[in-house]
Amino acid sequence: MESQLNHTHDAAARSWVAAANLDGTDFPIQNLPLCVFRRQGEGKAFRGGVAIGDQIVDLGALSEATFPDEIDRAAISAGAQPVLNRLMEMGPNAWRSLRHTLFALLHEKANDSMVSVVKDCLVPAIEAQFAVPAQIGDYTDYYTSIDHATNIMKLFGFDGVGPNFRWIPLGYHGRASSIDISGTSFYRPVGQVLQSGRSEPTLKPSEKLDYELELAIYIGRGNVRGHAISVDDAENHVFGIGLLNDWSSRDIQSWEMNPLGPFLSKSFATTVSPWVVTFEALAPFRTALRRSEGEPEGLPYLSSERNSSLGGVDIQLEVWMRSARQRAAQLAATRLSTTSFRHQYWTIAQMVSHHTINGCNLRAGDVLGSGTISGPGEGEAGALIELARNGANPVALTSGEERSFVQVGDEITLRGYCQKPGFARIGFGESRGEVMSARVDVR
Ligand code: CA
Repeated sequence: MESQLNHTHDAAARSWVAAANLDGTDFPIQNLPLCVFRRQGEGKAFRGGVAIGDQIVDLGALSEATFPDEIDRAAISAGAQPVLNRLMEMGPNAWRSLRHTLFALLHEKANDSMVSVVKDCLVPAIEAQFAVPAQIGDYTDYYTSIDHATNIMKLFGFDGVGPNFRWIPLGYHGRASSIDISGTSFYRPVGQVLQSGRSEPTLKPSEKLDYELELAIYIGRGNVRGHAISVDDAENHVFGIGLLNDWSSRDIQSWEMNPLGPFLSKSFATTVSPWVVTFEALAPFRTALRRSEGEPEGLPYLSSERNSSLGGVDIQLEVWMRSARQRAAQLAATRLSTTSFRHQYWTIAQMVSHHTINGCNLRAGDVLGSGTISGPGEGEAGALIELARNGANPVALTSGEERSFVQVGDEITLRGYCQKPGFARIGFGESRGEVMSARVDVR
């Protein structure tokens, strides 16, 4: 696992890009997350970029620039492609080289002649149009929060999680084609619903639309078919992390999911943030695996000393809602919940290792959804069905409206950041999506 601290984590480091040094910025020089972007309206190809303050370093322009001193161009060229898969495939040494090269170029003490070249490769983030950062071949969604799983089971009358939850990082195969970049609107899904008191289903627009607060874990270097990735090697195969909203239709889901799991209740839309924060940037924020007294130790392939002591990541997460009425009245969005990824029962390394234990091959650009992230406390639930207790306890918005589920015109925004005394705060940007009226004719 690669999570050692080095000079790129120094809280005192500052950039010559002034906005990168402001309190509360998501993108100080210690972060350097990647995206795929182009200038709005320029009509050119998408290419990789790196955030610094309110600017994006254009890796396409950087790969073609002439520098007075030598720089490592292999990773920059790979990052200049319309998707980041080639860079993802290169592995941790290349990712580290890219980070350290950019850190040196953007540092306030960088050589003037180098700085003038990089200045010509900056694009203001406000002018950017983003795209999904990878060509996502496969998308697997996990179910790894014991607090979320416990809340859901209680809502449906069960006493705690099923017996396999504590042994297996549970997951199902999701749909990659409908993963959208932040800012994309989507149609309210239509589907089969079994209404209460009826014995036969009807086809109708979903009335129980929900969001799920999750992380997108982007696989870097893949594995050869038949060769499992060990828990201690797993993070060498993870390129980085973004925010992911696994939109879910609870009424379609409850009718369709037995016995094979979620299908059309999830496959209509998933929204990811533009930015992918690398594991190296997250090194200061690693935590111990959260396990209470009396939890089973688990099978050896899912355990290691390192995973127990540093397998977690303390990522602070927030969910915000803004209805059409709130927007029209220019009212502030309502923060629905806050939590942290540190509460998760299974770590990212365990998800990767478990995914490959049967010989399955992961490929660069694959996405693992972390599963809904809920914490143990009140107001820490990562889905509206939990917060509103399946309609029994609607949430109040600043407009005076109430919500038990997401309505047409509602916009849901996920945000994330890491913060710890002695280190620079780093942010994840946002994942934002809005629900439009259903489009499919219901006959
Ligand atoms: Ca999910």
